[in-house]
Amino acid sequence: MTEGKGMWEDIPVDVGLVYEGERIRGKQMQVELGGPKITEKFELVQAREMSQIEDGKITVVGPDLTDMEVGEKYPLGILVEVAGKLVERDLEAVLERRIHEFINFIEGMMHLNQRYDIWLRLSQASYKKGFNTLKLMGTVLARLYKTEFKSIIEKIQITFYTDPAKIKPIYDDAKGIYEARDARARGMKDEEVGEFYGCTLCQSFAPSHICTVTPNRISLCGAINWFDARAAAKVDPKGPNFVIEKGELLDAVKGEYTGINEVTKKKTLGEIDKVHMYTILSPYNHTSCGCFESIAFFIPEVQGIGIADRNFKGNTVNGLPFSTLANSTGGGKQVEGFIGMAIEYMRSPKFFQADGGWERIVWLPAAVKENVKDAIPPELYDKIATEQDIQDLAELKTFLKDKGHPVQKLWTEEEAEEEEEEEEEAAMPMMQMPAGMPFGAPQMVGGMIQLPMQGAVAFPAGALGGASGGKWKIILKNAKIYAEEMIIKRVDEPKKKKKK
Ligand code: SF4
Ligand code: ZN
Repeated sequence: MTEGKGMWEDIPVDVGLVYEGERIRGKQMQVELGGPKITEKFELVQAREMSQIEDGKITVVGPDLTDMEVGEKYPLGILVEVAGKLVERDLEAVLERRIHEFINFIEGMMHLNQRYDIWLRLSQASYKKGFNTLKLMGTVLARLYKTEFKSIIEKIQITFYTDPAKIKPIYDDAKGIYEARDARARGMKDEEVGEFYGCTLCQSFAPSHICTVTPNRISLCGAINWFDARAAAKVDPKGPNFVIEKGELLDAVKGEYTGINEVTKKKTLGEIDKVHMYTILSPYNHTSCGCFESIAFFIPEVQGIGIADRNFKGNTVNGLPFSTLANSTGGGKQVEGFIGMAIEYMRSPKFFQADGGWERIVWLPAAVKENVKDAIPPELYDKIATEQDIQDLAELKTFLKDKGHPVQKLWTEEEAEEEEEEEEEAAMPMMQMPAGMPFGAPQMVGGMIQLPMQGAVAFPAGALGGASGGKWKIILKNAKIYAEEMIIKRVDEPKKKKKK
């Protein structure tokens, strides 16, 4: 492709896979559409009758890009209407999910998230090249849809809403439609269906990520449930959605099936070969790409799980904002203690069932708590803290104690130990073990005791007996220890015989 010439003569910017990962920073942007500061925003695909659609018609209701101030934020609703003999309502959600990918193909356009949460930016550079009307975006979208789904979509028309007064009623309708889609799989059980489905659409961003979609585990973007993936796999089995045969159930509690393991291994080129679907506390938990609606994070201090959604502003209970948690979670890795998930997953009967389910949830943003109120067991509702109740981990602990949260059952032993330790701490110097120590006996280095990291460890009598001669506290900071067995025992010093 020659410089300055794009994919289509009538589109002033280039369009292609190469632009997919493009990030447009605040300083480079012409305008922002949707995003965290705008409430009313959506994207929606609707199946229509052939007679209801004027093929190729693109409409802008409200101000267009040329009417918008540089660097400002505006509401946006995208309504894509499609028709064709094979177009059915079940396909709406998967077609809708492709808006993300198609808009990201446009040079100088960024699209994040889905459904009611979209966030778009247009770069000044692309605007200056002439990409100055939403009609151009509509034209690109319509062409990509017709190319990608040529045997399915016969007619397409697209409407962009930017007028705040006009968006509102359609935004409300769209929310009702998302809710109705989500509600379909509620009440179904993973055990009852013949097969599961997968989605690899996000592998362009996160090559080792694959979503396993089951009735009890909606995709982490929240946009594709079991019915949606099934419909997509039926019309386009070679596309990003496909059947996962269940195979043998290896672990009903954690949710491990041989079929999921095999397909995941194949589709991630061996990177991931074991998946536990219903747990966060497993090294084999579900991978996360980057489009999760929320993040669940384990809080070791209280043995509980916190959840933050994308719209939560400020710091979560462990002092970290959503963006920092997202960095620990995304990228297609399995990270024990962190998981990206859909809000709807909280309504699943198998929601973190291997970890104790709702009995393990200790913190939620107030807005999420209200949103999923119907799913929280009533006896637990007041026991789960929000940012309105507490600010940090110390306050969380007190809150959980005061409210009698069931997670306390997991504390008893640890707490007793902790209190004992606290008493001792004042009288005691601290020992730290640096990681990666060579094989051998413990050594004193600069007042610290270093432990060998391989083989059996036996402390020479008296090595740990400090001035107090009492018990010791061992703190491992940033340590990685690989040991089949590590035994630390206190050994009474044998009485020394006087040398003759
Ligand atoms: Fe597909 Fe999962 Fe990406 Fe959603 S998050 S588009 S289901 S791979
Ligand atoms: Zn994703």
